[in-house]
Amino acid sequence: MEKTLVLIKPDGVQRGIIGKIITRFEDVGLKIVAMKMVHPEQEDVDKHYALTEEWMMAVYTKAKTKYEAEGKEFPFVDHKAYGGNIKAGLVDFLRSSPVVAIVAEGEMAVSLVRKMVGATEPASSPAGTIRGDFSHDTYALSNEQGRPLRNLIHASGNVQEANNEIPIWFTDIELHKYEHVNDRVQYDAKWFLPE
Ligand code: ADP
Repeated sequence: MEKTLVLIKPDGVQRGIIGKIITRFEDVGLKIVAMKMVHPEQEDVDKHYALTEEWMMAVYTKAKTKYEAEGKEFPFVDHKAYGGNIKAGLVDFLRSSPVVAIVAEGEMAVSLVRKMVGATEPASSPAGTIRGDFSHDTYALSNEQGRPLRNLIHASGNVQEANNEIPIWFTDIELHKYEHVNDRVQYDAKWFLPE
Protein backbone atom coordinates (compact mmCIF):
# COMPACT_ATOMS: atom_id res chain seq x y z
CA MET A 1 0.00 0.00 0.00
CA GLU A 2 1.37 3.44 -0.87
CA LYS A 3 1.96 6.21 1.63
CA THR A 4 1.94 9.88 0.72
CA LEU A 5 2.81 13.10 2.51
CA VAL A 6 0.36 15.98 2.82
CA LEU A 7 1.15 19.36 4.38
CA ILE A 8 -1.66 21.78 5.13
CA LYS A 9 0.24 25.02 4.58
CA PRO A 10 -0.15 28.19 6.71
CA ASP A 11 -2.97 29.53 4.52
CA GLY A 12 -4.97 26.31 5.08
CA VAL A 13 -4.37 26.50 8.83
CA GLN A 14 -5.21 30.22 9.02
CA ARG A 15 -8.33 29.80 6.89
CA GLY A 16 -9.65 27.26 9.41
CA ILE A 17 -10.16 24.46 6.91
CA ILE A 18 -7.87 21.80 8.42
CA GLY A 19 -10.90 19.65 9.26
CA LYS A 20 -12.49 20.04 5.82
CA ILE A 21 -9.27 19.01 4.10
CA ILE A 22 -8.72 15.98 6.33
CA THR A 23 -12.36 14.95 5.88
CA ARG A 24 -11.83 14.70 2.11
CA PHE A 25 -9.03 12.20 2.61
CA GLU A 26 -11.07 10.18 5.10
CA ASP A 27 -14.13 10.29 2.82
CA VAL A 28 -12.24 8.82 -0.14
CA GLY A 29 -11.17 5.89 2.05
CA LEU A 30 -7.56 6.79 2.79
CA LYS A 31 -6.12 5.70 6.12
CA ILE A 32 -4.42 8.44 8.17
CA VAL A 33 -1.28 6.80 9.61
CA ALA A 34 0.48 9.91 10.95
CA MET A 35 -0.52 13.47 11.75
CA LYS A 36 0.88 16.44 13.68
CA MET A 37 0.99 20.22 13.82
CA VAL A 38 4.51 21.53 13.47
CA HIS A 39 6.23 24.89 13.22
CA PRO A 40 8.83 24.05 10.57
CA GLU A 41 12.53 24.81 10.94
CA GLN A 42 14.38 26.35 8.00
CA GLU A 43 16.17 23.02 7.60
CA ASP A 44 12.87 21.11 7.19
CA VAL A 45 11.69 23.43 4.41
CA ASP A 46 15.12 23.37 2.76
CA LYS A 47 15.06 19.60 2.61
CA HIS A 48 11.44 19.51 1.54
CA TYR A 49 11.81 21.98 -1.35
CA ALA A 50 15.33 21.21 -2.56
CA LEU A 51 16.51 23.96 -4.91
CA THR A 52 17.52 21.77 -7.84
CA GLU A 53 17.93 22.79 -11.49
CA GLU A 54 15.03 20.46 -12.33
CA TRP A 55 12.70 22.13 -9.79
CA MET A 56 13.64 25.69 -10.85
CA MET A 57 13.05 24.83 -14.50
CA ALA A 58 9.75 23.09 -13.69
CA VAL A 59 8.25 26.01 -11.72
CA TYR A 60 9.45 28.45 -14.40
CA THR A 61 8.05 26.41 -17.30
CA LYS A 62 4.69 25.74 -15.64
CA ALA A 63 4.11 29.44 -14.99
CA LYS A 64 5.40 30.54 -18.43
CA THR A 65 3.12 28.04 -20.17
CA LYS A 66 0.11 29.39 -18.26
CA TYR A 67 0.92 33.03 -19.07
CA GLU A 68 1.36 32.15 -22.75
CA ALA A 69 -1.88 30.14 -22.85
CA GLU A 70 -3.63 33.30 -21.65
CA GLY A 71 -1.89 35.37 -24.33
CA LYS A 72 0.24 37.22 -21.77
CA GLU A 73 3.95 37.84 -21.96
CA PHE A 74 5.90 36.08 -19.21
CA PRO A 75 8.05 38.87 -17.76
CA PHE A 76 10.81 36.65 -16.28
CA VAL A 77 13.82 35.47 -18.27
CA ASP A 78 16.00 33.57 -15.83
CA HIS A 79 14.59 30.33 -14.43
CA LYS A 80 17.23 30.24 -11.68
CA ALA A 81 16.39 33.70 -10.37
CA TYR A 82 12.66 32.93 -10.71
CA GLY A 83 12.90 29.54 -8.95
CA GLY A 84 15.26 30.94 -6.30
CA ASN A 85 12.77 33.68 -5.40
CA ILE A 86 9.91 31.20 -5.12
CA LYS A 87 12.01 28.94 -2.91
CA ALA A 88 12.98 31.86 -0.63
CA GLY A 89 9.31 32.88 -0.41
CA LEU A 90 8.31 29.30 0.41
CA VAL A 91 10.78 29.13 3.29
CA ASP A 92 9.35 32.32 4.83
CA PHE A 93 5.78 31.27 4.11
CA LEU A 94 6.02 27.77 5.55
CA ARG A 95 7.69 29.15 8.67
CA SER A 96 5.11 31.90 9.17
CA SER A 97 2.68 29.72 11.15
CA PRO A 98 2.27 26.06 12.07
CA VAL A 99 1.52 23.58 9.33
CA VAL A 100 -0.29 20.25 9.64
CA ALA A 101 1.68 17.26 8.38
CA ILE A 102 -0.19 14.09 7.48
CA VAL A 103 0.74 10.71 6.06
CA ALA A 104 -2.14 8.99 4.26
CA GLU A 105 -2.04 5.37 3.14
CA GLY A 106 -4.05 3.48 0.53
CA GLU A 107 -4.13 1.94 -2.93
CA MET A 108 -2.33 4.39 -5.26
CA ALA A 109 -2.45 6.98 -2.47
CA VAL A 110 0.10 9.28 -4.14
CA SER A 111 -1.76 9.84 -7.41
CA LEU A 112 -5.13 9.78 -5.66
CA VAL A 113 -4.14 12.62 -3.34
CA ARG A 114 -2.60 14.65 -6.18
CA LYS A 115 -5.85 14.28 -8.12
CA MET A 116 -7.81 15.53 -5.11
CA VAL A 117 -5.40 18.43 -4.53
CA GLY A 118 -5.54 19.78 -8.11
CA ALA A 119 -3.13 21.95 -10.09
CA THR A 120 -0.38 24.15 -8.64
CA GLU A 121 -2.35 27.29 -9.54
CA PRO A 122 -5.70 27.26 -7.69
CA ALA A 123 -7.41 29.28 -10.44
CA SER A 124 -6.60 26.47 -12.92
CA SER A 125 -7.70 23.69 -10.53
CA PRO A 126 -11.07 22.19 -11.37
CA ALA A 127 -14.01 22.52 -9.01
CA GLY A 128 -14.05 19.48 -6.76
CA THR A 129 -10.33 19.66 -6.04
CA ILE A 130 -9.08 21.09 -2.76
CA ARG A 131 -7.18 23.94 -4.41
CA GLY A 132 -10.04 24.59 -6.85
CA ASP A 133 -12.73 24.64 -4.18
CA PHE A 134 -11.00 26.63 -1.46
CA SER A 135 -8.76 29.08 -3.31
CA HIS A 136 -8.63 31.08 -6.53
CA ASP A 137 -5.08 32.45 -6.37
CA THR A 138 -3.27 33.01 -9.69
CA TYR A 139 0.30 32.98 -10.96
CA ALA A 140 -0.24 36.56 -12.13
CA LEU A 141 -1.29 37.87 -8.69
CA SER A 142 1.29 35.94 -6.70
CA ASN A 143 4.09 36.96 -9.10
CA GLU A 144 2.95 40.59 -9.03
CA GLN A 145 3.04 40.48 -5.23
CA GLY A 146 6.34 38.59 -5.16
CA ARG A 147 5.09 35.69 -3.04
CA PRO A 148 4.42 31.96 -3.45
CA LEU A 149 1.01 30.85 -4.63
CA ARG A 150 -1.38 30.39 -1.72
CA ASN A 151 -2.61 26.96 -2.67
CA LEU A 152 -3.33 25.59 0.83
CA ILE A 153 -1.70 22.22 0.62
CA HIS A 154 1.32 20.22 -0.47
CA ALA A 155 1.09 16.63 -1.66
CA SER A 156 3.94 14.37 -2.78
CA GLY A 157 4.26 14.32 -6.58
CA ASN A 158 5.26 10.68 -6.99
CA VAL A 159 6.18 7.61 -4.94
CA GLN A 160 9.88 8.47 -4.85
CA GLU A 161 9.08 11.99 -3.64
CA ALA A 162 6.78 10.56 -0.96
CA ASN A 163 9.53 8.21 0.24
CA ASN A 164 11.96 11.14 0.45
CA GLU A 165 9.54 13.57 2.07
CA ILE A 166 7.91 11.44 4.79
CA PRO A 167 11.14 11.07 6.85
CA ILE A 168 11.64 14.86 6.81
CA TRP A 169 8.46 15.29 8.84
CA PHE A 170 8.00 11.97 10.71
CA THR A 171 10.17 9.46 12.52
CA ASP A 172 9.46 5.74 12.02
CA ILE A 173 7.79 5.53 15.42
CA GLU A 174 5.32 8.26 14.45
CA LEU A 175 4.10 6.20 11.47
CA HIS A 176 1.33 4.14 13.02
CA LYS A 177 0.47 0.59 12.10
CA TYR A 178 -3.11 -0.28 13.00
CA GLU A 179 -6.09 -2.04 11.56
CA HIS A 180 -8.70 0.27 10.06
CA VAL A 181 -12.16 -0.87 9.01
CA ASN A 182 -11.29 0.16 5.43
CA ASP A 183 -8.45 -2.39 5.40
CA ARG A 184 -11.22 -4.99 5.37
CA VAL A 185 -14.07 -3.26 3.56
CA GLN A 186 -11.96 -1.90 0.72
CA TYR A 187 -9.04 -4.27 0.45
CA ASP A 188 -9.75 -7.65 2.07
CA ALA A 189 -10.68 -10.08 -0.75
CA LYS A 190 -12.62 -12.32 1.65
CA TRP A 191 -14.47 -9.61 3.52
CA PHE A 192 -18.03 -10.26 2.27
CA LEU A 193 -17.78 -14.01 1.65
CA PRO A 194 -19.56 -16.47 3.95
CA GLU A 195 -17.29 -18.55 6.24
P1 ADP B 1 3.04 21.65 -6.35
O1 ADP B 1 2.84 22.11 -4.93
O2 ADP B 1 1.77 21.76 -7.14
O3 ADP B 1 3.67 20.26 -6.46
P2 ADP B 1 5.61 22.83 -7.14
O4 ADP B 1 6.34 21.71 -6.48
O5 ADP B 1 5.93 23.13 -8.57
O6 ADP B 1 4.02 22.68 -7.05
O7 ADP B 1 5.89 24.17 -6.32
C1 ADP B 1 5.90 24.17 -4.91
C2 ADP B 1 5.11 25.35 -4.39
O8 ADP B 1 5.75 26.57 -4.80
C3 ADP B 1 3.69 25.48 -4.94
O9 ADP B 1 2.75 24.67 -4.26
C4 ADP B 1 3.42 26.96 -4.79
O10 ADP B 1 3.05 27.29 -3.46
C5 ADP B 1 4.79 27.57 -5.08
N1 ADP B 1 4.95 27.92 -6.51
C6 ADP B 1 5.28 27.09 -7.52
N2 ADP B 1 5.37 27.74 -8.70
C7 ADP B 1 5.10 29.02 -8.42
C8 ADP B 1 5.04 30.22 -9.22
N3 ADP B 1 5.29 30.21 -10.51
N4 ADP B 1 4.72 31.37 -8.61
C9 ADP B 1 4.48 31.42 -7.27
N5 ADP B 1 4.52 30.34 -6.47
C10 ADP B 1 4.82 29.15 -7.01
